[in-house]
Amino acid sequence: MSSEFDLIRRYFEQPARDVRPGDRRARRVSLGIGDDAALLRPSAGMELAVSTDLLLEGRHFRAGADARKLGHKALAVNLSDMAAMGAAPRWATLALALPAVDEAWLGEFTKGFFALAARFGVELIGGDTTRAAAPGPAPGSIVICVTILGEVPTGLALFRAGARLGDDVWVSGELGGAALALAQPGSAAAARRLDEPEPRVELGERLRGFASAAIDVSDGFAQDLGHILERSGAGAVVEYELLPRSADVKEIQDEKLQARLVLCGGDDYELVFTAPQANRAELAALASDLKLALSRVGSVQSGEARLQVLDARGRPMPVGRGFDHFAP
Ligand code: ADP
Ligand code: MG
Repeated sequence: MSSEFDLIRRYFEQPARDVRPGDRRARRVSLGIGDDAALLRPSAGMELAVSTDLLLEGRHFRAGADARKLGHKALAVNLSDMAAMGAAPRWATLALALPAVDEAWLGEFTKGFFALAARFGVELIGGDTTRAAAPGPAPGSIVICVTILGEVPTGLALFRAGARLGDDVWVSGELGGAALALAQPGSAAAARRLDEPEPRVELGERLRGFASAAIDVSDGFAQDLGHILERSGAGAVVEYELLPRSADVKEIQDEKLQARLVLCGGDDYELVFTAPQANRAELAALASDLKLALSRVGSVQSGEARLQVLDARGRPMPVGRGFDHFAP
């Protein structure tokens, strides 16, 4: 059986041979995996953006979940946080607690993780690997903790607090697909949205200077837009019919269920952002450039930090709650 150190070398240390001298990546890390700490070389004129997400077996993913998809998702949810800040992801650390050494699992997990990391130029620079529980009858559960670090030009990060009166409210992509996979398993497209979300990294970077506030949809559109409103001290009115949804969500006959998926469904990892009306043309051009739908769904209003959703006839709709780990 491999020692902890063999495992780290085999599965987590990416061979430096992939990095040629002069490669941009080579200059971003002075020292990677293998010492007591990594040494990073942030670029001049940049602020570092740092964010951590924890994924627990039984809470964020079911026991027996596909390891490759887990590797993808563990990194994707962190990349999504960089996108929501307008930051370019650069480095990641990975802490794993595993009930047992399962090399097949590690092989698949790292495949999913590194495939996504390579697409976005992220380098794994360290982490920790430990057994999930003391030896005994009760096996531990898998715990995955990724910390992502990114760079954003000083002063250009996107905050939740920036929404201004009269700004438009925008949403990328489609809402409700990930929640559909949980509510009605069976749709392959919905399952992909849940298990292998696509972080909107490029959109986040391109929104610098155009969006006034941004957040990623992890807990549901209404709740996450609510965070922007709270931080910005403003309200918003959104037209339900304008909220983008995929074909399989549109097909749902139960209107209440459809509204719940679109308004409160979590795990979509789309970006919700606000932008001055003056930027409409630029944002339409950005959408066609990125081949990603950007939907203008409402506007920021004065008054208390409240979200009002109007139905097709202009009547206020009830808005349920999004996901909250500590909700009573
Ligand atoms: P320490 O005893 O100082 O915590 P470790 O033996 O835990 O060091 O780790 C050795 C090296 O391997 C360190 O560079 C650490 O960052 C890295 N490492 C350990 N586990 C992981 C992992 N899951 N992913 C990436 N790097 C890891
Ligand atoms: Mg350690």
